[in-house]
Amino acid sequence: MAVLPIAQIGEPVLRERSRELTREELLAPTMQSFVDDLIETMRHAKGAGLAAPQVFRPIRVQAIEVGDNPRYPYKPKIPLTVLVNPKLTPLSAEIFQNYEGCLSVPNLRGVVPRFVGVRVEAWDRHGEALDYEVWGLSAGTYQHETDHLDGTIFVDRVADPSTFATWETFRAHHEAAFVERVRALVARFGA
Ligand code: ZN
Repeated sequence: MAVLPIAQIGEPVLRERSRELTREELLAPTMQSFVDDLIETMRHAKGAGLAAPQVFRPIRVQAIEVGDNPRYPYKPKIPLTVLVNPKLTPLSAEIFQNYEGCLSVPNLRGVVPRFVGVRVEAWDRHGEALDYEVWGLSAGTYQHETDHLDGTIFVDRVADPSTFATWETFRAHHEAAFVERVRALVARFGA
């Protein structure tokens, strides 16, 4: 396994629409070892998720995992999840205001509107069909990662640029109010 370099904002690969994989491509040993590298890179960078174009591979593969992440102590846990060719469908028109950052955008956070619930249809890393619902804060993580596969970065979705903050100014001025909102969301949806 290997830790891969992470593309930073401005790299054209982050702005492409990534392509679907066939099951045959997915099951090839080289692709399976790429999935291992994607997971290792996500963990090494302490991210909550990582999409293949962020490591210079414009294919529709993403990994998500939230454990005991000191960066996001308020985030509900998500077990390691690999999605291939994911399709997200909003389950309600309701949105919440999520404070997001990205491993491809160093030290910048901003408020992004996200659907509170999405249906996830995808393959797992072995090509088995997945179909389930995700609600609450975790739904925001899924939407952020899937956006990468369409060349969208969270900064594109920040409706109010005055919410942009560094980690330091987020902690100093915005985190407390955000954590209050998150608690309400987690209390409602358990995620
Ligand atoms: Zn990102």
